This record gives sequence, C-alpha cells and structure tokens, in this order.
Amino acid sequence: AVFDQLSTGLEEAWTKLRREDVLTRENMKEPMRDIRRALLEADVSLPVVRRFVNSVSEKAIGTGVIRGVKPDQQLVKVVHDQLVSLMGGDAVSIEFAKVPPTVILMAGLQGVGKTTACGKLALFLKKKDKSCIMLATDVYRPAAIEQLVTLGKQMEVPVFEAGNQLSPVEIARKGLSEAKKKGVDVVIVDTAGRLQVDKGMMNELKQMKQVLNPTEIFLVVDAMTGQEAAALVAAFNLEVGLTGAILTKLDGDSRGGAALSIKEVSGKPIKFIGEGESMTALEPFYPDRMASRILGMGDILSFVEKAQEVMMQEEAEEMQKKIMEAKFDFNDFLKQTRMMARMGSMGGMLKFIPGMNKVSPLQIREAEKSLKVMESMINSMTPEERADPELLTKSPSRRRRIALGSGRTQEQVSQLVSQLFQMRARMKNLATLMQGGKVPGLDN
Ligand code: GDP
Repeated sequence: AVFDQLSTGLEEAWTKLRREDVLTRENMKEPMRDIRRALLEADVSLPVVRRFVNSVSEKAIGTGVIRGVKPDQQLVKVVHDQLVSLMGGDAVSIEFAKVPPTVILMAGLQGVGKTTACGKLALFLKKKDKSCIMLATDVYRPAAIEQLVTLGKQMEVPVFEAGNQLSPVEIARKGLSEAKKKGVDVVIVDTAGRLQVDKGMMNELKQMKQVLNPTEIFLVVDAMTGQEAAALVAAFNLEVGLTGAILTKLDGDSRGGAALSIKEVSGKPIKFIGEGESMTALEPFYPDRMASRILGMGDILSFVEKAQEVMMQEEAEEMQKKIMEAKFDFNDFLKQTRMMARMGSMGGMLKFIPGMNKVSPLQIREAEKSLKVMESMINSMTPEERADPELLTKSPSRRRRIALGSGRTQEQVSQLVSQLFQMRARMKNLATLMQGGKVPGLDN
C-alpha cells in the first residue's frame, strides 16, 4: 500500500533513539540520515528533502524536553507535524462561485485518470446535493467523449457533448450556456489530455480559462509518477495558473513522493486523492490524516500532545502563583516570550485576551520589536540576576556589564529593571481583580 516503504524507513529512525534519554544534535544525526534516505526512496525531490530534514532537526532540538516523553516519541511527533506542514497544513476544500454555476476545469496528461476523476468528482458533489453537468471537450480522442457519456449515465449526471466537429473552446462556450439555462450548481469540464506537455495544450487551456472563467482549475496527476507529478503541477501552474491538484492512483503507489512534494514544489495544494477505479474512490485530501497514515502511530501522537498540554498547563499555573506572590522574574519573562513564539506571534496570543483584539498590527510589531530588545538584555544577565532582579536595582556595575554585553545603553537596562517591577505590581493587581471576577478597563 501507499507509504509502506516510507513508514518502514522512518521506523528505523525512531528505533535508533530507543536507548537515549534526551534528543541531542549528536544522537539525532543517524536518525536524520534514516529520514533523509526514506524520503529520497519515496521519490521526494532532493531540495524538498533537505528543507524537511533541516526543519525537523531544528524543531526537535528547539522543543526541549517534555517530561514523560521519550526521545523517539518526541521525534515521531515532530516528524508528524512537519509532514503535515509539508503537505500544506490545513485541508483546502473545494471553492464554489458566489454566483452559480461553479466551473471546474480539469486538466491533465493522457492516462492519468482525468476522465475518471471528472466522474468521481461529479458523484462526490452529487452526494453533497450539488447538481452537476459534465462537458466533454476532448475532441482528439473520441473514446474519451464516450467514456464520459457512459460515466454520466451510470451516475445519472448529465453530459454535454458535441462530438468532435466543434473546437473544445466552442463546446465549452455552448456547454456553459446550457448549464446556465438548466441552472446547475457545478460544471465539470473534461479537457483534452495529451501524451506530453506541449504549447498547443497550454494554449487551449488558456483559452478555455478565458471563456469559462473557472473557480477551480485542477491538474490531475498520477501518483505513480512521483516527483515528476509535482514538477508537472508547478509547470502547469506557471503557464496556466492552477487552484490545486487531484492526485490519482494512490492505491497503486507504494512510495508516496507525489503526495509529499506537490504543495512544497508547486505552492498549490492537493485537493482530492483517488485510490481506486470505482467512482466512489475519491476523497478530499487531509494533510494530517495522511501524515498519520504514514507514521501509523496515532496513540503516540496523542500521548505527546497531552504531555505537552500538561506541561503548558503546569507552566501556566506556576506562572500564576509567581504573579500572585509578586515574584515574577526575568526567567519568567523569557518563558512568557518563548511561549508567545511557540504560539506563533504576539498577535496570535493577544486574540485570546479579552479586549486586546483591537490592538493594531503596527502596535503589535512595535511591541514585538521591543520584546526582542528586552530579550537581548536578559540574555546578558547571569542566572542569579534573572532570578533576583533586586540585585540589579542595587548595583550600577551589574547594569553597566549588561548594557555592554547586549549592546544597549545603561538607561535601557535601568528602564527594563523598573519595567519588571511595574509589571509585577500591575500583574498582581490584575490577577487579584480577575479572581474577584471584575476586570476594569477590559470589556469581557
Ligand atoms: P484520462 O486519459 O486521464 O482521462 O484517464 P482515464 O480516466 O481514462 O483513466 C485511465 C486508467 O486509469 C483507467 O483504467 C482508470 O480506471 C484508471 N484509474 C483512474 N483513477 C484511478 C485510481 O485512482 N486508481 C486506480 N488504480 N486506477 C485509476
């Protein structure tokens, strides 16, 4: 089955970490080589593999130790998350036009399963209560028109065809006005497939695009062609402009390189996958489900996620305690900013705080910049100074050293120190008020 080989290859990577206590750059070297090899064998292109391996090692080291989680489990989780993001992150569903009909243009080389995919898509949409019509414009291969007509009959979806006397563009125009007359929701256009990419094919697609003004333009590609499929999506996208890809014959592919590469190589998402000849064998593409299928370790993934949550929760509780006791120090300050980094951005975090959603992006950028400045100064403090800011109020020489070390002025350091004490006081006040259920100034 698809990804079998990749799954086995990746497993070797985890196995090598079984005896380790923590992930280090050193003990990750060999597992990373295994991952690299497994991906290359899955027919993922070299630049993509390189980027992937780099981001996995960065993330694995950067995550730090999560209590109760073993290094091999942690690596599984990091690889899973990076696989998801490699395949595009969130699933991208089909887009419908604001004013029907929605036109879906289906392009692809001959034999990849384009006509089959038209039928599958029509059935998929029909199940979602969308009425469809299919347009047969592959005038160069009369059998293609027959094939579409047969599929249409089988699924009770109307097919518009005009034999091969008219040009594809004329058929498309007529078909579209027919669709409008009938008031159907979606028009699926089966275009001509050729044996190879050529100028004629591209030009015809461009003309079709002009006439039909499609909402979706899919390139249908065959999974068995591996990284070549990804290169095709990139090429068609440059030439014609695509909205996504449909990846067929995943059931016959044991490597999976196309599924892994398409988004990264072309910038366009896979929207559907085909895994069989039957008309029902088409599904929306979900990067996270695909990643779980590759790794096949759902239990480990949820275990690591839980452990991460527990740790965050504990950190938050500890932080709250410190706030209440007005013991918030520079270490906590750093922890907070790192937590923010983990959540994406300060803007992302502020969304969760009532009343803070009105902060402008400019203000957020300014704040992020001044946080960076603060961080640089904190990094020049000794561990004792971080834990005991009082040391800094008493000693000008300490402040001078920190200013020199971080390339800031002594005024900036003094300011940071007094800011911390202000924060302590304000946070404690706020926390006390919040516990009382009243938060003045915040519209929650
Ligand atoms: P087109 O030339 O691109 O229109 O290709 P067709 O739709 O005629 O399909 C070519 C062959 O591939 C047919 O025998 C299909 O049954 C087969 N096919 C299409 N999609 C899939 C798929 O997802 N899995 C498998 N195993 N076969 C498929």
